[in-house]
Formats: sequence, structure tokens, C-alpha cells
Amino acid sequence: MNSDPSKRLQAQRAIVTGACSGIGASIASALADAGAAIVVNYPTVRERGDAEAIVNKILAKEERAIAIEADVSQEQAVEQMFRTAIEAMGSIDILVNNAGIQSDASFVDMSLEQWNLVIGVNLTGQFLCARAAAREFLRRGVVPSLSRALGKIICISSVHDTIPWSRHANYASSKAGVSMLMKTMAQELGGEGIRVNAISPGAIKTPMNRAAWSTPEAERELLELIPYKRVGLPEDIAACAAWLASDDADYVHGATLYIDGGMLLYPGFATGG
Ligand code: BGC
Repeated sequence: MNSDPSKRLQAQRAIVTGACSGIGASIASALADAGAAIVVNYPTVRERGDAEAIVNKILAKEERAIAIEADVSQEQAVEQMFRTAIEAMGSIDILVNNAGIQSDASFVDMSLEQWNLVIGVNLTGQFLCARAAAREFLRRGVVPSLSRALGKIICISSVHDTIPWSRHANYASSKAGVSMLMKTMAQELGGEGIRVNAISPGAIKTPMNRAAWSTPEAERELLELIPYKRVGLPEDIAACAAWLASDDADYVHGATLYIDGGMLLYPGFATGG
């Protein structure tokens, strides 16, 4: 293991899904800074340019990175991504299940297509990637010079795995599913040495929720929901993911870290109730 704490993921190999923007891009960069080689996953040819820009930023820092296209909701695409990644990098040590989308509608207007789309990427996608990663960890066996764990899986969930969210039934349900998927995997795979955890971000400034923070009025309204009175940044999540993937967090297993400026403290009750 590397004794330089800033390189605590030295020689490990990570797949970060949905790493072409927002939280995923920031996690890819933080894991690379810690010494890991990165697979920057992106969903379609439309995001290829963004993914390649992230790869080039990592290469400029003299760390390894490649971009791989795969829609994580599709079994064959996920299997192919893992084959390509393992061929290029030898194995995989860390999976960050980050890819996620929203397709919002009032409950009565939500189409089955919207429901399936969001469940497909946010929940089925995490299942397919985690299964492929766990199979690879088990095939490879533990490498004590790299990590105490056989492998690490980090599921990016949301405060909405706990807080219901009107007009987002598909999204909130997918994240509640991710939470139980994470805990069940942690229970089942812990004995093999696979460490599984979740990070549940609150409001983070990303392209996905731009409308919620991009005007002063919207930001003021959003801050009503955040006791710490700051909208989060992708780096707030990335720093935690890099720590969670490292042996510094070796006894953290089956946990959900809410990184939300206190959103889950139900700030409405500070004066009400
Ligand atoms: C959603 C954001 C939202 C935040 C807090 C996140 O999971 O993706 O759009 O701002 O939760 O509500």
C-alpha cells in the first residue's frame, strides 16, 4: 500500500459510471488524484466529447484513464464495458455507481416510459454494474498490496432515498431501491471482502438540477431546505468518495453517508411542528 496519503488509491482501477459531467466527473477526477486509473463511462455518443475532455484532464495529470460508452440500463452494454475495461487495465478494484437521470412529471401524468427510463438507469443500471464488478472481484481475488478489500462498490443515491419527492415518483423510488440494493449487497458480499456503501447527496450544483440553483430566487428558495445554508458542489461528494474507496474507510460497510448540508434534518421543523 502507498504510504503517501494523497495517493491512497495508487495502482487501483476504478469504473465511474456517468462520469462525463456533474458529480461523476468530479469523482473521476478525485479518484485519479488519489492515484487510481479511471474508466470514464458515458451513456451515448452525444456525451463522448465531454467524456474525452475528462480523460484528457486526467492524462494531463499523468494518471491513466479511458472513456467507454455504455448505457448502464442495458445488460450487454454493461458486460461489454467491463470486458473492455478489464482488458485495458487488467482488473477493476472500485466501482462507483453514479449514473443517474431525472424525468419529472406529476404522478398522474407520469408515463410508463418515464417510469421505466429512470428505474432502468438509476436502479437496474446499479444492479448490472455491481454484479459485473462483484464477479470480477471474485475472479481476481484479493491483492493485499493494493487494498485490504477484495473490491469496493460505492452507490450514489440521494436524500430522496429517504425524503419523498412530489412530481418525482420515479426518481425517489429508484433511489429508495438503490438504498436497499446497497444494504443487501453489503450483507451478502461482505463475507467475501467486498465493501459496499452509499453516498446520498442533497442539492449539489450540477447540470441535472440547474433550474433549482441558477437564479438568485431559485437558490434562495433552495437554501430554505438546507440548514447549513450552502448549495453543495460536486467536489463535496468527490472528496468523500475518494476516502470511502480507500483503506482509510476499511471498516465502513453497509453505510449511507448523507452529504447534504443537513437537508435531512427536516429544516421546516426548526420553527414549525
Ligand atoms: C436531485 C436534485 C435535487 C436534490 C435535492 C437530488 O437527488 O438529483 O435534483 O436538487 O436531490 O432535492
